[in-house]
Amino acid sequence: MNDGPKKAGIVYLVGAGPGHPGLITRMGYELLQHCDAVAYDALIPLELISSLPERVERHYVGRRAGRHSMPQAEKNRLLLDLALRGLNVVRLKGGDTSFFGGSAEEAEYLAAAGVQVVIIPGVTAASAVAAVSGLPLTDRRAASWAFFATAHGSADEPIPVPWKEIAALSGGTLVIYMGLANLEQTVAKLLEGGSDRNTPCMVVQAATTGVQQILESRLSDVVADCRARQIRPPALVVVGGVVQHRASTFSHATPLAGKRVLTTCCAQETEAVCAALREYGAEPLPYPTYILENSDDAQGWARFATAAASGGWCVFTSSTEVRGFVDALLRNTFDLRSLGKLRIAAFGRDTESALLRRGLRADRIFQIPPQTLSPKYLTGGRSSKAARLVIISEQISVKPEEWADVIRLNLFRTKPASWETHWLQEIRTNSTDFILFDNPAAVDGFVQVLGLDEARSLSGRCKVIVMNNAAAAAASRWNLELSVEFAELFSEMFRT
Ligand code: SAH
Repeated sequence: MNDGPKKAGIVYLVGAGPGHPGLITRMGYELLQHCDAVAYDALIPLELISSLPERVERHYVGRRAGRHSMPQAEKNRLLLDLALRGLNVVRLKGGDTSFFGGSAEEAEYLAAAGVQVVIIPGVTAASAVAAVSGLPLTDRRAASWAFFATAHGSADEPIPVPWKEIAALSGGTLVIYMGLANLEQTVAKLLEGGSDRNTPCMVVQAATTGVQQILESRLSDVVADCRARQIRPPALVVVGGVVQHRASTFSHATPLAGKRVLTTCCAQETEAVCAALREYGAEPLPYPTYILENSDDAQGWARFATAAASGGWCVFTSSTEVRGFVDALLRNTFDLRSLGKLRIAAFGRDTESALLRRGLRADRIFQIPPQTLSPKYLTGGRSSKAARLVIISEQISVKPEEWADVIRLNLFRTKPASWETHWLQEIRTNSTDFILFDNPAAVDGFVQVLGLDEARSLSGRCKVIVMNNAAAAAASRWNLELSVEFAELFSEMFRT
C-alpha cells in the first residue's frame, strides 16, 4: 500500500556554543536529544554527538584533517534529503548560527524547497573568549563599538574587509574570526592603515575547552608571539584598548589542562565521563568503541522476583546499571515496588545519585567495590545469615557458598562500535595523551575498530589508563602497556 508522500521533517539550525558542552542552550540540547538525524561541524563538543542513542543518524560535514569541509551545496542537499525523508534534523554548528557559519545559505535553500527551518542561537566565540579572558568587548573607557570580521580568504577570493579604514578608526574593538592563517597580512594592513604598533592584542585558542590558550601581545608582535606559542585554530584575535581592561579572572590549576584524553566508553556513559575529564581540565575525545544494548533476561527476572519476596541485597556499581535496571524493571512489567524486601547497596557517589534520581535510597553506600563481595561486607561485619544477592556487575566476584542465592541479572549485551572516518584522521594527525578504558568490551572494541597494529601503535604513543581490573586484564591480553604513573589520578577522578 502506498502511504503517499511523507511529511517533511523540520530542520533546526542550532548553535552548539564555542566548545564546552555546557554552553549549548537548553533548547538546543533538548532538540538534539529528540531529533532523528544530526549534521555537525568540526568545532562542536563531540560528547554531544557520541552520547546520542544509536537510532539517531549522524552526518559529519566538517573539515577533515587538513582538507576542506563538505561544499556548501552538498550540505544543503544533505539537509534537504534528510528532511524529505521525514526526519527531524538538528544541524549543529559551532558557536552561534549567525556568525560565519553559512546558516543563511542553508536556511534559504531549505525554505525555498518548502522545508520548515527553526534557528536556535548559541554562544559565539567572541563571547566565550571575552568570558575566559575576563575581557570586555566594549568598555566605556576603551571601546564604544566592536567589529566582527573574518580574515579567511584566499588569493583568488580576497575578503572584502576594509582593514585600513577600520585601522583609521579609534575607540573600538576589532574581533577577528578565522584570523590565524592570514594574521601576518591582516596586521600589515592594519599598520598601513595607521594602527599604532603598540595596540594591545589578545589571541585565544579553543576558548572553554581543555586545550585553551590565552596570549596577550601587541600588534607589532602578535604574529611572532602566536608562532612562538604554537597557537592553532580555532583561535580568535581581539585588537584594541579593551585588552588592557582585562579583569583578572579566577582560574584554578587543573591537573590535566592541555591533555587530550581518548575515551572509549559507550554512549550511555560518555557525558558523565567527559564531564569528569573536563573538570580536571582535559579535552575529551569521546570515541566509543562498544555499544551497550538491552538484553532481556527472563530467567534472571523470575529469580529476582523470588529474592524480592524473601529479602536480600541488590547491589549497584554504576549509574548505567541503575538506569538499565529501572528501565528493565518497567520493560518486564515490574516497577519500583517490585524491589520488595531487597536492601540496596550502592558503590560510588554517581551510583548513589542515580538511584536517588529514580526514587531509590541506598541502604548502604560504599566507594569502590571489593574484589570479593561477602554478606559481612555489606552488613559492616555483623554476622549475617545467608541472604540472597542480586547483582548486575560482572566485575564483582562472590563466593556462592556465602549466599543463599546469587542472581546475576544480564541487563546488557555489548557489541563493537564502528568509528567515524574523521575520528581516525583526527587521532592520526593530532597527538593524544591518554586512552581510557572502562571495560573489557572497550578494550576489545578498540582493537577491533583500529586493527591490532594500529591499536598497539597508538597506545604506545600515549598513556593507557584502565578503570578496573577486568579492563586491565583485557588490555594485557592484547599486550597494551598500562600507565601506572597516572592511574591514581584517574581513579580519584571517577571515585567521586
Ligand atoms: N559560528 C561560530 C564561528 C565559526 S567560524 C561562532 O559563532 O563562534 C570559526 C572561527 O570561530 C574559528 O576560526 C575561530 O576564529 C572562532 N572560534 C570558534 N570557536 C572558538 C573557540 N572556542 N575559541 C576561539 N575561537 C573560536
